[in-house]
Amino acid sequence: MTDFLPNSTAWITGGNRGIGAAISSKLESQGLVIRALSTEDFDLGNRESLLNFLDSTDEWPSVLVLNAGINEPETFEIQSEATFKRILEVNFYANVNILQAVIPHMKKNNFGRIVAISSLFANRVKPGRSAYASSKAATEALIRHIAVENAEFGLIANIVCPGYVDTNLTRKNNNENQISDLVKKIPMRRLAQPREVAALVEFLVSDKNSYITGQTINVDGGVSLL
Ligand code: NDP
Repeated sequence: MTDFLPNSTAWITGGNRGIGAAISSKLESQGLVIRALSTEDFDLGNRESLLNFLDSTDEWPSVLVLNAGINEPETFEIQSEATFKRILEVNFYANVNILQAVIPHMKKNNFGRIVAISSLFANRVKPGRSAYASSKAATEALIRHIAVENAEFGLIANIVCPGYVDTNLTRKNNNENQISDLVKKIPMRRLAQPREVAALVEFLVSDKNSYITGQTINVDGGVSLL
């Protein structure tokens, strides 16, 4: 078990289901106090609601997992500006607000562990994912900068890129036939389970990781190699 200070808190956005729920459960087993944040706490697409949450907080996390995300696939030319912006708000700008609020407290404690959940589509193309891919690519660039700007203050920040994971999000955007087709393209011939992504997050925030920062690590059954 990692030697976190007593009552150290972890915030996991979207921490109640899918990949986020698996991360919450793994980090709880490391002795962290878990705040699994969801739409019951704020709407990440609504700046005022997020800022209200941050303003009313007096317990800051030593571990932050930026996991919440939405994906509403649509060909670029016909996607409305409102939907495009909402995807960027939820998947990227909300992370900016949370990070700007949390980092000063981590620096004060000379300890912070940050992981952002990105996607293979940050660097690859699947038609209909232009907004989603843009939001993930922006988050990855942001995390790399945070890692370097704060490395001397005890902060470690990394990016985890899942391939295809068996969650509601995957099943919402792919029917059974599409999932069978996807599985045929994955070298391991199956979707990832959320706990397999969570295992890497657990490692990255634990004291087993003392020197990996600013990196993007794929958990994808080998699909990114093809
Ligand atoms: P799910 O759709 O299962 O869960 C999404 C989570 O995000 C939910 O907990 C949801 O909260 C939260 N959320 C969504 N919108 C908002 C919002 N406006 N305000 C606050 N919280 C919100 O997703 P997954 O578990 O599949 O995905 C988790 C992350 O992993 C995402 O960032 C996704 O892009 C990424 N990812 C997923 C892959 C996959 O194959 N599933 C592949 C690659 C990356 P609530 O429970 O309250 O609705």
